[in-house]
Amino acid sequence: MTNNLIKNRAWVEINLDNLEHNINEIKKIVSKKTKIMAVLKANAYGHNLILISKKLNEIGIMDFAVATLEEGLALRNNKIKGNILILGYTSIENIDYVVKYDLIQTVVDEEYASNLIKLPNSNNIKVHLKINTGMNRIGIDCKNVLFIKNLYKEKRLNILGIYSHFCSANSDKKRDIEFTYKQIERFNRLIKYLESSHINVGKTHIQGSYGLLNYPELNYDYVRMGILIYGVYNDNTTYKKINLNLLPVLSLKSKIASIREIEKGETVGYSRTYKAKKREKVAAVSIGYVDGYPKNLSDLNAYVKVNNRFAKVIGRICMDQLVINISNIPNVKIGDEVTLIGDSKYINAENLATKLKTITPELLGRMGSRLKFIPIQNNN
Ligand SMILES: *Cc1c(COP(=O)(O)O)cnc(C)c1O
Repeated sequence: MTNNLIKNRAWVEINLDNLEHNINEIKKIVSKKTKIMAVLKANAYGHNLILISKKLNEIGIMDFAVATLEEGLALRNNKIKGNILILGYTSIENIDYVVKYDLIQTVVDEEYASNLIKLPNSNNIKVHLKINTGMNRIGIDCKNVLFIKNLYKEKRLNILGIYSHFCSANSDKKRDIEFTYKQIERFNRLIKYLESSHINVGKTHIQGSYGLLNYPELNYDYVRMGILIYGVYNDNTTYKKINLNLLPVLSLKSKIASIREIEKGETVGYSRTYKAKKREKVAAVSIGYVDGYPKNLSDLNAYVKVNNRFAKVIGRICMDQLVINISNIPNVKIGDEVTLIGDSKYINAENLATKLKTITPELLGRMGSRLKFIPIQNNN
């Protein structure tokens, strides 16, 4: 009964065995001393924060990163154990939550550091310092060495780590590689300086997914792994030195709602963008763009999978429904399962993201709030 309701019209299946597999694949290329910090921002890249974090805890992952305070609170409210680093800004008025829920806040710049150390309980606040080595988004300027040294020496904050972020580690262009090495050098020089002043800098980290794939020789304390743990790359074209054997964790599924035949010359959907070239069999699928199948895939030759065959999406994708051409697929029935994002060609997230000229974190991070999430294991 419950299961029927969950699979009523559109849902997401989360393959937790694949998540474990991807973690093991990543472990093969990180150095012995380096730990995986699993990045769970934006509802675990659309995969469901709680399902993903519980499984990760079960398989021994004890370090997490989120974008927001609320995401950190959600993890603690669901009894997730380990270190939770907030990568983004938290307003100073809400800093008590960081302390109370044992989270770690990023120090986003010099002004933020100064505001934090003014608080009466500042030395209870666990932080990592973010260092700007060239991305120019957030971070304390890497040239502000005295400021950074004083933050450590004053002990008015509980500084547990220091990190930076690459801005062009996903490229094999000479100027991008040179810039990445410049970022590494700036970060290392700062750490060396601090250590020469007898400071224990705490945990160090700089690599995201492509930082690991393209600079695997680095061995800081953490690699911050986002998209790779979900078993996909950013898209089909981005440069990567290492190819892992990843398995996608997420499948987006729906059902056939209605089937009809249309005559040659008839059109399908809003604005009549699709016109049948002959008599055709078409089916409405009960999923739309608010569920996470982007409207921009309309009229782009996107395919979905039904009865193990690929059917083209035709006409404009609507808010709650879309139409596919099933002329060449025998025995399609009302209620048959349709896979819109999954692990095979055409429908894998990389292909769709590439078609959309975006990257998979955006595609997957937009799964709609009406979807149910179903955890699955390979052997059931
Ligand atoms: C999102 C994010 C990551 C993870 O990026 P992926 O490319 O998905 O691995 C790492 N570090 C920071 C600071 C981030 O914001």
